[in-house]
Amino acid sequence: MLQIRNITKKYKKGNEVFTALDDVSFDVDKGDFITVTGHSGSGKSTLLNTIGGLIHPDNGTVLYNDENIYGYPQSKLDEYRKLKVGFIFQQFHLLPYLSVYENIKMACSEDKQVRRIGRYLEECSLSEQRNKFPAQLSVGEKQRTAFIRAIIGGPEFLLADEPTGNLDPGNCSILLDLISEYNKNGGTVILVSHHEPAAIYQTKGLQLQKGKIISQ
Ligand code: ADP
Ligand code: MG
Repeated sequence: MLQIRNITKKYKKGNEVFTALDDVSFDVDKGDFITVTGHSGSGKSTLLNTIGGLIHPDNGTVLYNDENIYGYPQSKLDEYRKLKVGFIFQQFHLLPYLSVYENIKMACSEDKQVRRIGRYLEECSLSEQRNKFPAQLSVGEKQRTAFIRAIIGGPEFLLADEPTGNLDPGNCSILLDLISEYNKNGGTVILVSHHEPAAIYQTKGLQLQKGKIISQ
């Protein structure tokens, strides 16, 4: 489904050039649950954002159904980001002045998705939080809201950037179970983490070190 080929990304830091990703290649098949582990600074977020269409690599291609997403015209790249990809982040990135329900509704592109919100809230034990604002939620509730927002539009794959980084072990396993459920229902997952809480779910594990894949 996705072929990541020879991705290199460099950042300028003052006069120095820092290589965040160095010739990274791997395949993502439909239904995969891929975990990417590596120390802080190893390039995990850069990799995820490159796959999600947010960071243009200096070299290499991200092939989605055999087409390079960075060869798309802007409108098609926007469509890829909006319709194919769901994102969750360690810091939730919920909009503070919108309720749980409204945060999720914003990510819907069709009425039938809006009609499913109630069921997802129920499944994620958030029904009573429906009209609360992010500041009134526990961290576990915030991340479950962000999870529903990421998948409500029916994305083909979920990109999760250290989604359990702020969660206690109980909330961590609840979230990973929900992500696993999404995966079992046909969704493809790429999850990055600096430790390995998701190892039991993965179909493939990659390790990044200084921008290079050292094992897969
Ligand atoms: P990770 O998610 O594994 O912690 P990142 O992909 O965030 O790693 O970053 C990899 C390296 O690239 C880090 O050294 C980071 O400081 C650097 N980096 C990331 N984004 C930028 C940026 N926008 N400008 C300059 N350097 C960056
Ligand atoms: Mg990161």
